[in-house]
Amino acid sequence: MNSKEEKKFLTRLKKFPEKICKASDTAVMEGFEYFTTSEYKKKSGAIKNRAKKMFANQGLKGGIRLATHMAKRMPSMLNNIKKNYKDMDDYLCSLENGKEIPHTSEKVVKTFPNKGIWNDLLQYSWNKHKVIVGFTKVPEEYIFEGKAIPFQYALVFAQKMKKEPIEKAPELDAGMEVMNTYNSLGIATNDIIKWLKTKYEIMGMANHPLGGLVDFVPLAEKAGLGLIGRHGMVITKEFGPRCRISPIFIDKKIFEPTDTIEHEWIREFCNKCGNCARSCPVEAIYKKPKFVQISHSENTKDRYESYDREKCFVSFSATMGCAVCISVCPFSRNPKTYDKMKTKYS
Ligand code: SF4
Ligand code: SF4
Repeated sequence: MNSKEEKKFLTRLKKFPEKICKASDTAVMEGFEYFTTSEYKKKSGAIKNRAKKMFANQGLKGGIRLATHMAKRMPSMLNNIKKNYKDMDDYLCSLENGKEIPHTSEKVVKTFPNKGIWNDLLQYSWNKHKVIVGFTKVPEEYIFEGKAIPFQYALVFAQKMKKEPIEKAPELDAGMEVMNTYNSLGIATNDIIKWLKTKYEIMGMANHPLGGLVDFVPLAEKAGLGLIGRHGMVITKEFGPRCRISPIFIDKKIFEPTDTIEHEWIREFCNKCGNCARSCPVEAIYKKPKFVQISHSENTKDRYESYDREKCFVSFSATMGCAVCISVCPFSRNPKTYDKMKTKYS
Protein backbone atom coordinates (compact mmCIF):
# COMPACT_ATOMS: atom_id res chain seq x y z
CA MET A 1 0.00 0.00 0.00
CA ASN A 2 1.63 3.21 -1.19
CA SER A 3 0.80 5.62 1.66
CA LYS A 4 1.65 9.32 1.78
CA GLU A 5 4.10 8.58 4.61
CA GLU A 6 5.80 5.86 2.59
CA LYS A 7 6.29 8.21 -0.38
CA LYS A 8 7.85 10.89 1.84
CA PHE A 9 10.06 8.34 3.57
CA LEU A 10 11.35 6.92 0.26
CA THR A 11 12.04 10.39 -1.16
CA ARG A 12 14.20 11.22 1.86
CA LEU A 13 15.88 7.80 2.03
CA LYS A 14 16.81 7.74 -1.66
CA LYS A 15 18.97 10.84 -1.20
CA PHE A 16 21.51 8.50 0.41
CA PRO A 17 21.97 5.78 -2.23
CA GLU A 18 25.20 4.53 -0.66
CA LYS A 19 23.41 3.82 2.64
CA ILE A 20 20.35 1.94 1.42
CA CYS A 21 19.22 -1.27 -0.31
CA LYS A 22 17.33 -0.55 -3.53
CA ALA A 23 15.11 -2.74 -5.69
CA SER A 24 16.84 -4.68 -8.47
CA ASP A 25 16.19 -3.85 -12.16
CA THR A 26 13.83 -6.79 -12.44
CA ALA A 27 11.81 -5.95 -9.32
CA VAL A 28 8.09 -6.66 -9.21
CA MET A 29 5.56 -3.92 -8.49
CA GLU A 30 3.77 -4.17 -5.15
CA GLY A 31 0.40 -5.91 -5.66
CA PHE A 32 -2.01 -3.31 -4.25
CA GLU A 33 -0.19 -0.60 -6.23
CA TYR A 34 -0.28 -2.55 -9.46
CA PHE A 35 -4.02 -2.94 -9.17
CA THR A 36 -4.47 0.84 -9.04
CA THR A 37 -2.48 1.46 -12.23
CA SER A 38 -4.22 2.57 -15.42
CA GLU A 39 -2.55 -0.36 -17.18
CA TYR A 40 -4.41 -2.80 -14.93
CA LYS A 41 -7.68 -0.85 -14.91
CA LYS A 42 -7.84 -1.09 -18.71
CA LYS A 43 -7.84 -4.88 -18.58
CA SER A 44 -11.03 -6.86 -18.91
CA GLY A 45 -11.95 -8.30 -15.54
CA ALA A 46 -10.32 -5.46 -13.65
CA ILE A 47 -12.31 -4.10 -10.76
CA LYS A 48 -13.66 -0.71 -11.80
CA ASN A 49 -14.88 0.29 -8.41
CA ARG A 50 -13.46 -1.99 -5.79
CA ALA A 51 -15.13 -0.49 -2.75
CA LYS A 52 -18.56 -0.43 -4.39
CA LYS A 53 -18.26 -4.07 -5.44
CA MET A 54 -16.97 -5.10 -2.03
CA PHE A 55 -19.99 -3.64 -0.27
CA ALA A 56 -22.49 -4.78 -2.91
CA ASN A 57 -21.30 -8.36 -2.48
CA GLN A 58 -22.18 -8.38 1.19
CA GLY A 59 -25.86 -7.34 0.93
CA LEU A 60 -27.31 -4.75 3.31
CA LYS A 61 -26.69 -6.63 6.58
CA GLY A 62 -23.19 -7.69 5.55
CA GLY A 63 -22.42 -4.20 4.26
CA ILE A 64 -23.28 -2.66 7.65
CA ARG A 65 -21.19 -5.33 9.45
CA LEU A 66 -18.28 -4.73 7.09
CA ALA A 67 -18.49 -0.93 7.41
CA THR A 68 -18.56 -1.19 11.23
CA HIS A 69 -15.63 -3.58 11.25
CA MET A 70 -13.56 -1.40 8.94
CA ALA A 71 -14.39 1.72 10.96
CA LYS A 72 -12.98 -0.04 14.03
CA ARG A 73 -9.84 -1.50 12.41
CA MET A 74 -8.78 1.03 9.78
CA PRO A 75 -7.70 3.87 12.12
CA SER A 76 -5.45 1.48 14.04
CA MET A 77 -3.97 0.02 10.83
CA LEU A 78 -3.29 3.46 9.35
CA ASN A 79 -1.76 4.67 12.62
CA ASN A 80 0.55 1.69 12.78
CA ILE A 81 1.62 2.16 9.14
CA LYS A 82 2.35 5.82 9.92
CA LYS A 83 4.29 4.79 13.03
CA ASN A 84 6.64 2.63 10.90
CA TYR A 85 7.81 5.80 9.12
CA LYS A 86 7.53 8.25 12.00
CA ASP A 87 9.87 6.09 14.09
CA MET A 88 12.52 6.45 11.36
CA ASP A 89 12.42 10.23 11.44
CA ASP A 90 15.37 10.66 13.85
CA TYR A 91 17.47 8.32 11.73
CA LEU A 92 16.64 10.20 8.51
CA CYS A 93 17.31 13.56 10.17
CA SER A 94 20.70 12.30 11.31
CA LEU A 95 21.57 11.33 7.72
CA GLU A 96 20.38 14.71 6.46
CA ASN A 97 22.44 16.53 9.09
CA GLY A 98 25.54 14.55 8.21
CA LYS A 99 25.72 13.12 11.73
CA GLU A 100 24.46 9.60 11.34
CA ILE A 101 23.18 8.30 14.68
CA PRO A 102 24.80 5.09 15.90
CA HIS A 103 23.14 1.98 14.62
CA THR A 104 22.85 -1.21 16.66
CA SER A 105 25.28 -0.99 19.56
CA GLU A 106 28.84 -2.24 18.96
CA LYS A 107 28.47 -4.49 21.99
CA VAL A 108 25.63 -6.42 20.30
CA VAL A 109 27.45 -6.56 16.95
CA LYS A 110 30.58 -7.99 18.61
CA THR A 111 28.70 -10.68 20.51
CA PHE A 112 27.20 -12.22 17.32
CA PRO A 113 25.30 -14.61 17.15
CA ASN A 114 23.68 -13.31 20.37
CA LYS A 115 21.91 -16.53 21.28
CA GLY A 116 20.71 -15.04 24.58
CA ILE A 117 19.05 -12.06 22.87
CA TRP A 118 17.61 -14.36 20.19
CA ASN A 119 15.97 -16.62 22.79
CA ASP A 120 14.68 -13.58 24.69
CA LEU A 121 13.22 -12.25 21.42
CA LEU A 122 11.51 -15.56 20.63
CA GLN A 123 10.00 -15.67 24.10
CA TYR A 124 8.90 -12.02 24.12
CA SER A 125 7.37 -12.30 20.64
CA TRP A 126 5.51 -15.50 21.46
CA ASN A 127 4.40 -14.67 24.99
CA LYS A 128 3.14 -11.19 24.17
CA HIS A 129 2.00 -11.45 20.55
CA LYS A 130 1.89 -15.17 19.65
CA VAL A 131 4.19 -14.66 16.67
CA ILE A 132 6.98 -16.88 15.34
CA VAL A 133 10.27 -15.39 14.11
CA GLY A 134 13.00 -15.96 11.50
CA PHE A 135 16.09 -13.95 10.53
CA THR A 136 17.64 -13.53 7.08
CA LYS A 137 19.36 -11.17 4.65
CA VAL A 138 16.93 -9.42 2.27
CA PRO A 139 17.72 -10.22 -1.38
CA GLU A 140 17.44 -7.08 -3.54
CA GLU A 141 15.09 -8.87 -5.93
CA TYR A 142 12.49 -9.06 -3.13
CA ILE A 143 12.36 -5.27 -2.78
CA PHE A 144 9.39 -3.92 -4.75
CA GLU A 145 9.87 -1.79 -7.88
CA GLY A 146 10.75 1.82 -7.05
CA LYS A 147 11.18 1.11 -3.34
CA ALA A 148 14.12 0.84 -1.00
CA ILE A 149 14.84 -0.27 2.54
CA PRO A 150 17.28 1.29 4.98
CA PHE A 151 18.77 -1.96 6.33
CA GLN A 152 19.73 -5.20 4.66
CA TYR A 153 18.71 -7.84 7.24
CA ALA A 154 15.22 -8.76 8.40
CA LEU A 155 13.48 -10.38 11.30
CA VAL A 156 10.40 -11.97 9.76
CA PHE A 157 7.29 -12.58 11.87
CA ALA A 158 4.15 -14.66 11.26
CA GLN A 159 0.96 -14.54 13.30
CA LYS A 160 -1.89 -17.04 13.19
CA MET A 161 -5.41 -16.27 11.93
CA LYS A 162 -8.22 -17.98 13.87
CA LYS A 163 -9.47 -21.27 12.44
CA GLU A 164 -13.25 -20.83 12.84
CA PRO A 165 -13.70 -17.60 10.83
CA ILE A 166 -11.21 -18.68 8.15
CA GLU A 167 -13.11 -21.94 7.66
CA LYS A 168 -16.13 -19.83 6.65
CA ALA A 169 -14.21 -18.37 3.66
CA PRO A 170 -15.22 -16.71 1.37
CA GLU A 171 -17.83 -15.36 3.82
CA LEU A 172 -17.28 -12.02 5.48
CA ASP A 173 -16.10 -13.61 8.76
CA ALA A 174 -12.95 -14.82 6.99
CA GLY A 175 -12.18 -11.41 5.46
CA MET A 176 -12.72 -9.77 8.83
CA GLU A 177 -10.26 -12.18 10.43
CA VAL A 178 -7.71 -11.34 7.70
CA MET A 179 -8.13 -7.65 8.63
CA ASN A 180 -7.92 -8.43 12.37
CA THR A 181 -4.60 -10.17 11.87
CA TYR A 182 -3.18 -7.42 9.64
CA ASN A 183 -4.02 -5.08 12.48
CA SER A 184 -2.70 -7.15 15.40
CA LEU A 185 0.52 -8.09 13.59
CA GLY A 186 1.11 -4.43 12.68
CA ILE A 187 0.78 -3.55 16.38
CA ALA A 188 3.07 -6.46 17.32
CA THR A 189 5.96 -5.51 15.02
CA ASN A 190 5.88 -1.87 16.15
CA ASP A 191 5.98 -3.05 19.75
CA ILE A 192 8.78 -5.59 19.16
CA ILE A 193 11.12 -3.07 17.51
CA LYS A 194 10.49 -0.64 20.39
CA TRP A 195 11.37 -3.44 22.83
CA LEU A 196 14.56 -4.35 20.89
CA LYS A 197 15.67 -0.71 20.76
CA THR A 198 15.01 -0.05 24.42
CA LYS A 199 16.35 -3.29 25.89
CA TYR A 200 19.26 -4.08 23.55
CA GLU A 201 19.96 -0.93 21.48
CA ILE A 202 19.16 -2.78 18.27
CA MET A 203 18.36 -0.55 15.28
CA GLY A 204 15.48 -1.53 13.03
CA MET A 205 12.39 -0.50 11.12
CA ALA A 206 9.05 -2.32 11.26
CA ASN A 207 7.11 -2.72 8.01
CA HIS A 208 3.33 -3.18 8.45
CA PRO A 209 1.81 -6.40 7.02
CA LEU A 210 -0.33 -4.19 4.76
CA GLY A 211 2.43 -1.76 3.81
CA GLY A 212 4.91 -3.71 1.78
CA LEU A 213 8.33 -2.38 0.84
CA VAL A 214 9.36 -5.96 0.08
CA ASP A 215 7.63 -9.15 -0.99
CA PHE A 216 6.93 -10.75 2.41
CA VAL A 217 6.03 -14.21 1.14
CA PRO A 218 9.39 -15.26 -0.38
CA LEU A 219 11.13 -13.38 2.44
CA ALA A 220 9.34 -15.55 5.01
CA GLU A 221 10.28 -18.65 3.03
CA LYS A 222 13.92 -17.52 2.92
CA ALA A 223 13.86 -16.87 6.67
CA GLY A 224 12.90 -20.52 7.15
CA LEU A 225 9.35 -19.94 8.40
CA GLY A 226 7.93 -22.39 5.88
CA LEU A 227 7.58 -23.17 2.18
CA ILE A 228 5.42 -21.45 -0.43
CA GLY A 229 2.55 -23.78 -1.28
CA ARG A 230 0.60 -23.96 -4.54
CA HIS A 231 -1.76 -21.27 -3.30
CA GLY A 232 1.17 -18.84 -3.06
CA MET A 233 1.13 -18.62 0.76
CA VAL A 234 3.88 -19.72 3.09
CA ILE A 235 3.00 -23.00 4.78
CA THR A 236 4.48 -22.82 8.28
CA LYS A 237 4.96 -25.70 10.68
CA GLU A 238 3.13 -23.85 13.45
CA PHE A 239 0.09 -22.38 11.66
CA GLY A 240 0.09 -23.87 8.15
CA PRO A 241 -0.73 -21.05 5.69
CA ARG A 242 -3.33 -19.64 8.13
CA CYS A 243 -1.15 -16.65 9.07
CA ARG A 244 -0.02 -13.16 8.01
CA ILE A 245 3.56 -11.96 7.68
CA SER A 246 5.47 -8.80 8.54
CA PRO A 247 9.19 -7.95 8.85
CA ILE A 248 11.45 -5.68 10.88
CA PHE A 249 14.51 -4.55 8.89
CA ILE A 250 17.71 -4.74 10.95
CA ASP A 251 20.96 -2.95 10.15
CA LYS A 252 23.50 -5.62 11.12
CA LYS A 253 23.92 -9.36 11.04
CA ILE A 254 23.38 -9.83 14.76
CA PHE A 255 21.69 -13.26 14.68
CA GLU A 256 22.39 -16.54 12.94
CA PRO A 257 20.25 -16.61 9.76
CA THR A 258 17.43 -19.14 10.05
CA ASP A 259 17.48 -19.95 6.30
CA THR A 260 16.64 -23.64 6.14
CA ILE A 261 15.57 -26.33 3.70
CA GLU A 262 13.65 -28.39 6.24
CA HIS A 263 10.28 -27.64 4.58
CA GLU A 264 11.26 -28.73 1.03
CA TRP A 265 9.23 -31.95 1.28
CA ILE A 266 6.01 -29.88 1.20
CA ARG A 267 6.52 -29.41 -2.56
CA GLU A 268 5.97 -33.09 -3.19
CA PHE A 269 2.93 -33.11 -0.92
CA CYS A 270 1.45 -30.14 -2.83
CA ASN A 271 1.97 -31.96 -6.15
CA LYS A 272 -0.29 -34.75 -4.90
CA CYS A 273 -2.84 -32.65 -2.99
CA GLY A 274 -4.25 -29.88 -5.20
CA ASN A 275 -7.15 -29.07 -2.80
CA CYS A 276 -6.59 -25.33 -3.20
CA ALA A 277 -6.58 -25.48 -7.01
CA ARG A 278 -9.85 -27.43 -7.04
CA SER A 279 -11.54 -25.08 -4.54
CA CYS A 280 -10.48 -21.64 -5.78
CA PRO A 281 -13.72 -19.86 -6.80
CA VAL A 282 -12.07 -18.14 -9.78
CA GLU A 283 -9.70 -20.94 -10.86
CA ALA A 284 -6.70 -18.73 -10.17
CA ILE A 285 -4.45 -21.62 -9.10
CA TYR A 286 -2.82 -23.45 -12.02
CA LYS A 287 -3.23 -27.20 -12.36
CA LYS A 288 0.56 -27.32 -12.53
CA PRO A 289 2.94 -24.46 -11.61
CA LYS A 290 4.46 -22.85 -14.74
CA PHE A 291 7.00 -20.27 -15.89
CA VAL A 292 5.16 -17.02 -16.64
CA GLN A 293 5.96 -13.35 -16.71
CA ILE A 294 3.96 -11.91 -13.87
CA SER A 295 2.18 -8.78 -14.87
CA HIS A 296 3.22 -6.50 -12.01
CA SER A 297 6.13 -5.03 -13.97
CA GLU A 298 7.35 -4.99 -17.55
CA ASN A 299 10.88 -5.74 -16.40
CA THR A 300 10.23 -8.99 -14.61
CA LYS A 301 11.70 -12.17 -15.96
CA ASP A 302 9.58 -15.28 -16.19
CA ARG A 303 9.05 -16.76 -12.76
CA TYR A 304 7.87 -20.11 -11.57
CA GLU A 305 4.31 -19.29 -10.53
CA SER A 306 1.56 -21.49 -9.17
CA TYR A 307 -1.33 -19.04 -9.46
CA ASP A 308 -2.63 -16.13 -11.51
CA ARG A 309 -2.34 -13.05 -9.28
CA GLU A 310 -4.78 -10.93 -11.28
CA LYS A 311 -7.55 -13.49 -11.12
CA CYS A 312 -6.94 -13.95 -7.42
CA PHE A 313 -7.02 -10.23 -6.71
CA VAL A 314 -10.55 -9.86 -8.12
CA SER A 315 -11.88 -12.46 -5.69
CA PHE A 316 -9.62 -11.31 -2.84
CA SER A 317 -10.90 -7.74 -3.06
CA ALA A 318 -14.54 -8.59 -3.52
CA THR A 319 -14.55 -10.71 -0.36
CA MET A 320 -12.13 -8.64 1.75
CA GLY A 321 -9.53 -11.40 1.81
CA CYS A 322 -11.05 -14.50 0.12
CA ALA A 323 -8.93 -17.15 1.98
CA VAL A 324 -10.75 -20.14 0.43
CA CYS A 325 -7.40 -21.69 -0.54
CA ILE A 326 -6.13 -21.21 3.03
CA SER A 327 -9.22 -22.76 4.56
CA VAL A 328 -9.09 -25.95 2.47
CA CYS A 329 -5.34 -26.51 2.83
CA PRO A 330 -4.74 -29.59 5.02
CA PHE A 331 -2.02 -27.66 6.88
CA SER A 332 -4.62 -25.09 7.99
CA ARG A 333 -7.29 -27.57 8.96
CA ASN A 334 -5.27 -29.76 11.28
CA PRO A 335 -2.18 -28.58 13.19
CA LYS A 336 -0.88 -32.18 13.30
CA THR A 337 -0.68 -32.43 9.49
CA TYR A 338 2.81 -30.93 9.29
CA ASP A 339 4.48 -33.45 11.61
CA LYS A 340 2.48 -36.41 10.30
CA MET A 341 3.25 -35.65 6.65
CA LYS A 342 6.86 -34.69 7.26
CA THR A 343 7.59 -38.17 8.62
CA LYS A 344 5.96 -39.68 5.53
CA TYR A 345 7.48 -37.39 2.87
CA SER A 346 10.96 -36.53 4.15
S1 SF4 B 1 -7.29 -16.21 -2.24
FE1 SF4 B 1 -9.19 -16.99 -3.18
S2 SF4 B 1 -9.06 -16.31 -5.31
FE2 SF4 B 1 -7.00 -16.15 -4.46
S3 SF4 B 1 -6.03 -18.10 -5.00
FE3 SF4 B 1 -6.91 -18.31 -2.93
S4 SF4 B 1 -8.92 -19.21 -3.30
FE4 SF4 B 1 -8.24 -18.37 -5.25
S1 SF4 C 1 -4.14 -27.14 -0.43
FE1 SF4 C 1 -2.76 -28.81 -0.92
S2 SF4 C 1 -1.81 -28.20 -2.86
FE2 SF4 C 1 -2.71 -26.37 -1.98
S3 SF4 C 1 -1.03 -25.45 -0.84
FE3 SF4 C 1 -2.19 -26.71 0.61
S4 SF4 C 1 -1.11 -28.67 0.59
FE4 SF4 C 1 -0.43 -27.53 -1.22
